[in-house]
Amino acid sequence: MSCLFCRIINREIPSKIAFENDRVLAFYDVNPQAPVHILIVPKRHIAGLNDITVKDNELLGEIQNIARELARRENIADDGYRVVVNCGANAGQAVAHLHYHLLGGRKFSWPPG
Ligand code: 5GP
Ligand code: ZN
Repeated sequence: MSCLFCRIINREIPSKIAFENDRVLAFYDVNPQAPVHILIVPKRHIAGLNDITVKDNELLGEIQNIARELARRENIADDGYRVVVNCGANAGQAVAHLHYHLLGGRKFSWPPG
């Protein structure tokens, strides 16, 4: 299997895991862009946001609830944080397995670069 995040999910590549259940894995980004930078991914391979359907609504809702819970656990919930999904080349998506970035611990600018 060539997908990097599928290999992380299957433990073929090590990662520091922040949360796991049957459907979702969250792990710390290897190249953090903020004091807290966690990637939250569905265990089922979905290439990106262009590939979701309404059948994934429950899974995607669960991922956002996991983001909220991890933000609380990482003590960034009160100060604020950012949840980002990059989709496609213009957004800079580098790994073709849907992932939510949970970023916090510093102030972010807007609009994004
Ligand atoms: P994208 O640019 O696709 O939205 O985000 C991909 C993210 O995956 C980047 O933030 C990058 O640092 C992270 N990443 C790439 N390879 C690895 C890896 O092997 N392990 C971990 N933990 N993160 C990775
Ligand atoms: Zn994958």
